[in-house]
Amino acid sequence: MKVLVVEDTVTSATLICHLLRKMGLEPVHASDGPSGIGMFKQVSPDLVLLDIVMPGMDGFEVARRIRQLERDGDWTPIIFLSARTSDDDLARGIGAGGDDYLIKPVSEVVLSAKVRAMQRIAQMRYSLLVLTRKLDEANRELRRLSSVDGLTGIANRRCFDETLSREWRRAARGGLPISLLIADVDHFKEFNDGYGHQHGDDCLKAVAAALQGSIHRSTDLVARYGGEEFAAILPETDADGATEVAETMRAAVAALAIEHRSSSAAAHVTISIGVATTTPMRDLAPDAGAVVLKRMADQALYAAKRLGRDRVIFADVPVTEVVPGPAV
Ligand code: GH3
Ligand code: MG
Ligand code: MG
Ligand code: MG
Repeated sequence: MKVLVVEDTVTSATLICHLLRKMGLEPVHASDGPSGIGMFKQVSPDLVLLDIVMPGMDGFEVARRIRQLERDGDWTPIIFLSARTSDDDLARGIGAGGDDYLIKPVSEVVLSAKVRAMQRIAQMRYSLLVLTRKLDEANRELRRLSSVDGLTGIANRRCFDETLSREWRRAARGGLPISLLIADVDHFKEFNDGYGHQHGDDCLKAVAAALQGSIHRSTDLVARYGGEEFAAILPETDADGATEVAETMRAAVAALAIEHRSSSAAAHVTISIGVATTTPMRDLAPDAGAVVLKRMADQALYAAKRLGRDRVIFADVPVTEVVPGPAV
């Protein structure tokens, strides 16, 4: 425990430092206010013993400045030293940010008792800080987990919905295009039936990684939308850009070359992708707008399935003509 002693009277400072050393503590001495503050910054003491009457800057002012220096949540106990014992001085000392009061000449027994009491409080505060830090960490981890899909480790549907709503608003504000991709594994039921559920899960993980590896902008998001369906949000991306990304994704999944004997689309696992792009209109409510965009991509995906799977289809339907309704 480092103790900063700010005391201008040499005899008093010498005595206090001697007693502190006897208690097994490390005293650091400053003989006036400004150097006490400098020392405080330099050594970050665990306790400050602070004389009140000093030439230049008095102890009250030093205490006030120390409290200003401390960052949020920091607190170093300050014990005032004074030969004066008036109630007013005590009140002023506490008001200036002090925690306790010692009367000079300092008695060894009282000094030791007060230092021990401050140590105990400091220890408790420290434990509380550690606990708070652990809680913060746990909260961060919880927040992260609540937006991540457990199987594949990519964003989950919750994160997707939040991101789409946010990006839709941003696109509407900026008059910028936004694209949405919905990808679905072809004949995945047959894959599960033929290779087992465990292989099915492994396949979904590999597909998720391939999709994630196909996007490069920090604002793009790939999520597992549910089951064997994935979705990607590509802000500030027009139809050509989105179709290109979708084609990259389709090729990346094909390149995994995961055998799929019972698929009518290919001898390996494939995906079909529906792509929709729009520039949101300000008068369309964000959630309604996102629903419409999703519906457009869904309809394009449905067309991709109908046309033989393992392909990308772009929804060239104007957003105003797509009526929200039940899922296709
Ligand atoms: P289509 O080409 O038309 O998309 O046919 P499909 O068989 O992929 O579509 P369908 O919707 O009939 O079947 C989806 C299958 O995906 C059924 C379900 O068992 C499987 N599935 C969904 N989620 C998971 C999962 O988390 N793990 C595994 N192993 N299979 C899943
Ligand atoms: Mg003095
Ligand atoms: Mg499917
Ligand atoms: Mg499906």
